[in-house]
Amino acid sequence: MTGISILKERKKQIYQKGAEPFSITCGKHSLAGSVSQRACVFCGSRVVLYPIADALHLIHGPIGCAAYTWDIRGALSSGPELHRLSFSTDLQEKDVIFGGEKKLYHALIDLIHEYKPKAAFVYSTCIVGIIGDDVEAVCKKVSRETGVETLPVHSEGFKGTKKDGYKAACEALFKLVGQGSVDNISPYSINILGEFNIGGEAWIIKDYYKRMGVNVVSTMTGDGRVDDVRRSHGAMLNVVQCSGAMTYLADMMKEKYGIPYIRVSYFGLEDMSKALYDVAEYFSHNPEIMTCTQELVRYEISRIYPELQKIKTAVKGKRAAIYVGGAFKAFSLIKALKYIGINVILAGSQTGNDADYEVLRDMCDKGTIILDDANPLELSKYIIEKKADLFIGGVKERPIAYKMGIGFCDHNHERKTPLAGYSGMLNFAREVYLTVTSPVWQFAR
Ligand code: SF4
Repeated sequence: MTGISILKERKKQIYQKGAEPFSITCGKHSLAGSVSQRACVFCGSRVVLYPIADALHLIHGPIGCAAYTWDIRGALSSGPELHRLSFSTDLQEKDVIFGGEKKLYHALIDLIHEYKPKAAFVYSTCIVGIIGDDVEAVCKKVSRETGVETLPVHSEGFKGTKKDGYKAACEALFKLVGQGSVDNISPYSINILGEFNIGGEAWIIKDYYKRMGVNVVSTMTGDGRVDDVRRSHGAMLNVVQCSGAMTYLADMMKEKYGIPYIRVSYFGLEDMSKALYDVAEYFSHNPEIMTCTQELVRYEISRIYPELQKIKTAVKGKRAAIYVGGAFKAFSLIKALKYIGINVILAGSQTGNDADYEVLRDMCDKGTIILDDANPLELSKYIIEKKADLFIGGVKERPIAYKMGIGFCDHNHERKTPLAGYSGMLNFAREVYLTVTSPVWQFAR
């Protein structure tokens, strides 16, 4: 035992596999004082929209909010890189007293004049919600005067959980959908939703679809372009990865444009292959697509299989803790880790729902800790008690792993290495191997 106790109010958000009846509370506001690992509403919006590379992203608020999310994703662009500049209205005390609308207006006019973006997103932060700036009205005025569509993102940090930020981002994107021409879109076409081109992942996935004979109209939002989003209503199917972030947009597109959607994950051999086969199945009236998919899967797996087996021999029996944003990623990680012989002793997420946690319960071995909206102390407690060798998470989990003296693998949006697709699975296995077998840990414990 570690001697680290759990706050009384947090106990319902933690479940140990095997305890009966199954019960875990989720979807709640974070508990004050528990230093949640979760990000705010604004950050949720920012991570979704950030990779749209030819749009202007202006954060209306104090400079700290912009710093917090500057270059927040390792999202690459094959063209413009306007997304990598983080603009802020840098609200000061005077603006809080007299209002920040004028400052916002002038910032937008100057930036649009300077950078000539395809569209502009204006993110509301906490203070804007408190002082009550009419961001919508300023955006309308700027759109009218400049001809550049300026979209408010209602992402005041305090008004919910990170999930509400995803929703605000989807609402802003949905305003663009339907504006472009759908001429020359193939009958075998999809949009990829919730793929953010971290380290070039969207390029890997798009290459697979191309080899299958499937056309990608728009990737939302990795290596994203405003005009592609505008014509995305012409696609036949929405393929939703990272479902926590983008299912809301897929639902809206289904209702308004009748586009069905499927949920996929591009992490791990099993889920990656299923993602391709599900799309091939959807277009089953063209059997050539299925034939190409079978060939592709066979080729890609046989290419990486020998090295994966070597890694498995070296890491088999190690224990991993997983804490990620969306639970869907945790599902894929558990399968990928099992594939290389690693046991999962903790699995948690920032934004999982009831159904997600039921799936996690079914996937995990007896004794595994399942956590919703965890804090550093809880994570440390179970890492010690369950003797984890490896922690998989993001920027906020990295220092916990190093303080605990165990290996760490970054599976969050800041990283620069692709972990999706077949080559991504090999990168992931190599990273896991390098960190858990590093001799340094013998000196840290
Ligand atoms: S929006 Fe609010 S909670 Fe989010 S970073 Fe800014 S001040 Fe912090």
